[in-house]
Parts: sequence; C-alpha cells; structure tokens
Amino acid sequence: MVCWLPSDSDWDHHYNVTGDETWKAENMHKIFAKIEKNNYAEAGSPGHGFDGYFQTNMGAMAQARGGALQGNKVMEAYAKEFGVDDWDMTDLLTRDPNEMVADRDQISSIFGLVNHQYANGQRYSSRDYVKAAVDAGDPITVSLTSLATKVLFDTSGDCGDKPRAVGVEYLEGKSLYAGDSRRVAGDAGTKKTVKAKREVIVSGGAFNSPQLLLLSGIGAKEHLEEFDIPVVVDLPGVGQHLMDNQEMPIIGTGSAGSGTTGVAMFKTNFPAYDERDMFLMGGPGAPLPYGVSMVKGSSVNNKGWVKLRSADPQDTPEINFNHYAEGSDADIQAMADTPDENGSCGQDDIDWIHKQTFGHHPTSSNKIGADDDPMAVLDSKFRVRGVAGLRVVDASAFARIPGIFPSAPTFMISQKASDEMIAEIEAGEAIEVCEAALPE
Ligand SMILES: Cc1cc2nc3c(=O)[nH]c(=O)nc-3n(C[C@H](O)[C@H](O)[C@H](O)COP(=O)(O)OP(=O)(O)OC[C@H]3O[C@@H](n4cnc5c(N)ncnc54)[C@H](O)[C@@H]3O)c2cc1C
Repeated sequence: MVCWLPSDSDWDHHYNVTGDETWKAENMHKIFAKIEKNNYAEAGSPGHGFDGYFQTNMGAMAQARGGALQGNKVMEAYAKEFGVDDWDMTDLLTRDPNEMVADRDQISSIFGLVNHQYANGQRYSSRDYVKAAVDAGDPITVSLTSLATKVLFDTSGDCGDKPRAVGVEYLEGKSLYAGDSRRVAGDAGTKKTVKAKREVIVSGGAFNSPQLLLLSGIGAKEHLEEFDIPVVVDLPGVGQHLMDNQEMPIIGTGSAGSGTTGVAMFKTNFPAYDERDMFLMGGPGAPLPYGVSMVKGSSVNNKGWVKLRSADPQDTPEINFNHYAEGSDADIQAMADTPDENGSCGQDDIDWIHKQTFGHHPTSSNKIGADDDPMAVLDSKFRVRGVAGLRVVDASAFARIPGIFPSAPTFMISQKASDEMIAEIEAGEAIEVCEAALPE
C-alpha cells in the first residue's frame, strides 16, 4: 500500500470551503507526524513521526542498494528529464517523497516508494490497529460477520428538532453482501439492532457509506422515493461528487524481472493546482515485462456517483466513476500531456486513454462542504447535515480527492475525527445522551 501524502493545496481546499482552520495543511502535517511510526528516515526528518502506530517504510532501499536493474535505466532517463541527473541514482531511488521540505509540492524527481510497512517489510493496515485495541482490552466489539443495513433514527422530537441517530440495524451471518463471491443466494442472515447512546459513526468507505445513508433515508428525496425508502432528510449530495485518481498502465517490452521500486513524480502541463500532479510507478518485474502505472494526482473530475440499484441492503449499489466527464478536461490533458498547437492532445490519444483508464481510489461521495453548499453531506466535523448524532469518517468524507493516494490521508482524518470527538467530550460539548430516544 503506497503512502504518499497529499499536497498542501489538497488539504487547504478543505479549509477554504469550510473555514475550519483545523483542516489547514500545517495542522494536517502535525496529525501525520503524530500517527506515523517511520521506519526509514533519520530521526528528526521534517514532517515525520517516529512514535505513532502508522508504520511506514521505503521499499526501494534494498533494491537501490542492490545494484542496477534494467528498470533503473528508465529512471535514469526520467532523471535527465527532471534535471536531477547530477544525483547519484541510489540517492534518487531513496529520496523521501514525504519529507516536509518547503517546496515539496513543486519537486519533479525520482523518489523511493514508501509503503504502509513495518520495519521488517510486513504490511501494516487498519486491521493491525483494531486488533491491537482488542488485544489491549479496549471496550470495543468487532464483528466480522455483520452487515450494517440501516441507521435507526428517533424522530419523535424528544431529542431535539433534528432526527437523532440512535442505533444501527444489521444482519448477522457470513458473506451476506452481494459483493462477496462466497455469498450463498437467499441467505438473509439474522436481523439485529444495536443501540447508540451518543453517536453512530459510519465508516463503510466511498461506495458503501453513501449506500448505507441512502438505505437509512438520507439522500436525494426523488432517489429514495424511487425505492419507497422513507425520507429522513433530503440531502442530494449523498453518493454524488465521487472522485478518483485516474490510473493507466503502460506495458513495455523490457525483460522479465526488470522492474524497480523507484517512482517518478512530476508536474504536467495541466495540474489542478500549480503543483506536481503525475505519479509513475515502475515495475512489477518478474515474471512480467517492465511496466509503468500512471496515477493522476489531485484530479478535478467530481462527476462520479454511487446510487442504489435496489432497497435491498445485501445488493451492491450502482457505481460510476464517470471519468473525464464534462468540466474535467484538465485530467485527460494531463494524462496525455502532449499538447498540440491548440493546447490539446489528439482525439486518438483521448480515445485510447478513455479505454485504458481505471481507478481504485474512490473518495468524496459524502463530501465535507460549506454550510451554503446544498451538495455538502458533512460539516467540517464529519457530522451528517440535517440529522443529529451521526458522522461519516472515511474516504467518502474528503471535500476533494486528497492527492494521489487516499489511504494515509484516511488514517489522518480518522485520527483527526477521534481527537476532536474526545476533545468535545472532555470539554462537555459532545452531544447529550438521549435516554428517551433509545430504542427498546
Ligand atoms: C486494489 C486496491 C489498491 C489500492 N492501493 C492503494 C495504495 O497503494 N495506496 C493508497 O493510499 N490507497 C490505495 N487504495 C485505496 C485505499 O484502499 C482506500 O482509499 C482506503 O481503503 C479507503 O479507506 P476507507 O476506510 O474509506 O474504506 P475501506 O478501506 O473500504 O473500509 C470500509 C470497510 O467497511 C466495511 N463495510 C462496508 N459496508 C459495510 C456494511 N454495510 N456493514 C459492515 N461493514 C461494511 C468494508 O468491508 C470495509 O472493511 C487501493 C484500493 C484498491 C481497491
């Protein structure tokens, strides 16, 4: 799992649209330093943390020291292009992309590939964090066989003017979701509910969090009515504004095993901000020929969507990234990055890029946004607008796609949300427990 931090503009966008200073890049840097357990940089390297839980390591180090690979010849050509060919190749292949140097978002160069990894190279994931909490005896219940189907609301008015989230309905059973290839048709599990004393936090990811909100009656009224789902709040942004990093593979004719784990990052002629925006990852090596994956950073297209295909919570939602939709010319121009005399790339290139593009970094389908933005699903504290006691904390919350790789930023916003919720409780500002609203 590649760990590459967003640019300052990506974070500042969240501040710019909400006015919430805690989203400024300078604060987000502090959160990363707090959670990171860096296993590769020198102690004290700017922007890094060495005492946290989020393990990072640089996979390129062993290879860079291991001598010349054919793929490194490609890297040498990049180095020339970026004007860093006076660097030693080993230094380039171990250059730290996440060091917070002043002009970081402007540097076109080769870098080492930083991953979510322990010092021994083992992969780190949120599973490790959750398991550590369980092992430590923290008051947390983890169920690997539950499918959340609906957030339950109290609408009696006993807990304030807004509908109040008071629990979750779920199905218990193995592989109940249609997206699970092990699902046994017709198995509907056992319906259960769990009460929430204070708040419900949804973290189902950029596809399933909007699906769950929609199933719970939070979304565009007309869409909910199509499926006879009672409307709790008419919130048209739910499932809209889906963003993604467009990705495209280029397979070369190098010999098997020619890969390198170094990466290149540069500014195309069409960046969303005046910052580097294209990531090239060489590899994978044996047994395939040399290939490069291009990933478009800080993309502008926000016309993707997630919609219900039925009111059945075991069903998958309809998903459309809608890559290169109207208004996102900069994305496809950056992918081609060969402007003709009119400043655009040729139609053949565009058609080819359309066909080749795929993506797997979905974000922003329950976006944080301004109070006067009718498409904003969340406020700057992750609270679902129009209801009380409900937050969404996952990649669907980003106001815009966070750079090139969303996973580390998702860890960061999770930390941000939990710090803020604890601070609210300590300051006596958390939402009150509403006994009257608790279901039987
Ligand atoms: C193949 C692939 C490779 C990737 N590589 C990288 C990479 O190298 N670097 C990077 O930064 N990002 C990468 N990403 C993106 C990254 O994985 C996501 O951005 C990140 O996981 C988003 O975190 P999340 O918490 O929002 O959602 P998720 O990680 O998807 O977590 C959501 C969780 O909720 C559970 N869930 C959903 N609905 C329900 C429900 N109704 N009931 C119960 N549980 C539910 C899901 O099972 C899942 O465990 C990759 C993604 C893919 C698919």
